[in-house]
Amino acid sequence: MKSVGVMETIIEKVDPRQIDEHIMEQAGQLIAEGELVAFPTETVYGLGGDALHPEAAKKIYAAKGRPSDNPLIVHIAEFSDMERVAKTIPEQAKKLADAFWPGPLTMIVWKSDAVPSATTGGMDTVAVRMPNHPVALDLIRKSGCLIAAPSANTSGRPSPTEAQHVAEDLSGRIAMILDGGPVGIGIESTIIDLTEDKPMVLRPGYITPEMLSEVLGEEVVIDPGIIAADDTRKPKAPGMKYKHYAPKADMVIVDGAQDAVVAKINELTAARQAEGKKVAVIATEETKEQYDADVILCIGKRADEDAIAQHLYKILRECDELNVGEIYSECFQTPRIGQAIMNRLLKAAGHTVIHV
Ligand code: AMP
Ligand code: MG
Repeated sequence: MKSVGVMETIIEKVDPRQIDEHIMEQAGQLIAEGELVAFPTETVYGLGGDALHPEAAKKIYAAKGRPSDNPLIVHIAEFSDMERVAKTIPEQAKKLADAFWPGPLTMIVWKSDAVPSATTGGMDTVAVRMPNHPVALDLIRKSGCLIAAPSANTSGRPSPTEAQHVAEDLSGRIAMILDGGPVGIGIESTIIDLTEDKPMVLRPGYITPEMLSEVLGEEVVIDPGIIAADDTRKPKAPGMKYKHYAPKADMVIVDGAQDAVVAKINELTAARQAEGKKVAVIATEETKEQYDADVILCIGKRADEDAIAQHLYKILRECDELNVGEIYSECFQTPRIGQAIMNRLLKAAGHTVIHV
C-alpha cells in the first residue's frame, strides 16, 4: 500500500450527466484496494475509503489530519445496504429514507459488528447517508464497498465545494480526485440521531427540523450543544465541537437592519485600515456597492438562500487566499436554511457578533 504524503494524485473530470465508465471503474478499484478517492456529492466533496476496512478509515484521518475521535459518515447506494451497517433499522429510518434519500440527510443508528470502530471513532453508533449525486452513487456501486467519507478538506479548513478546493488541501495525500464540477447545495448534510428518546438534529443542514418532523409525525428536537455559544454543553456529534470552517483572519458578523449594518461595517473597516490591516467584507448583491473595504465578496442575492449556502465556503477560502487581516460579514438568518448557514458562519466567526 502507498503511504500518505508521497503519492501522485490523479485528477479526472467526470461529467455527472454522462459518466465515463472507464474512469469510474478505476476509481472503484482504488477504493476496493483500500486507497482514498475524493468525489462530488450534492452537499460538499467527500473523501472516500472502504467503510468496513479499518486501514482505509485510518488513512482518511491521516490525510485530513482529523482527530481520530471524530467519526466518519458511511455512504450507501441502496437502502438495503443499511442492513449491513445498522444493528437494527428503526421504523423512523424507513420513513425518512422514503422521503429524503438519496439526499442531504445523515441518520445515526446503532452500529452492526461489521463496522470497524476506526470508522465510528470508537462509538457504538454509525452515521449513514445515501448521497444524491450520480458520480457518488456510481462510485459506491463500482467499488462494491460502502464508502466512509468525511468532507474532503484538511481538518479545520472550510469544506470543499469544488474539486480545486480538494486539490489545494489533499494533493499528494490521496490516490484520486473525481472532478464533477461545483456542488449544488454547498453545506454539509443534516444529521439526525435516531438512537435518542426523541429524534434529535445534531447538525443543521438543507433538510430542516420542520421537514423531518412532518415526515415522522413526531417532535424533532435540536441538540442543545450546537446552539450554545459557550462551551458549557458538549455537542453530541463529536465533529461539532471543533473550530471548523474557520478562515485564517479574524471574522466578525454584524447583525441588524441593512443600512445600520452597512454603516457599522464601513466604520469598523476604516478603523482596521487605519491600523494597516487589509479588510474583506462578505456582502450581498443588494449591498456590495455600499462598502469601502479592500475586498468585497458577494455571496449572492439576500432572497436567494440556496445561493448563499452554495457560495459560503468558497468565499471563506477566498479570504485565506487574499491574505486579509479582518473579515466583516452580514448576517444570513434566512427563513428556511438560515439555521444551517448561520451555524457555519458563527463557527467561522468564533461566535463574534455585533448587533446594531
Ligand atoms: P463530515 O463528514 O466531515 O461532514 O463530518 C461528519 C460529522 O458527522 C461529524 O460532525 C461527526 O462528528 C458526525 N458523526 C459521524 N458519525 C457520528 C455518530 N455515530 N454519532 C454522532 N455524530 C456522528
Ligand atoms: Mg467536515
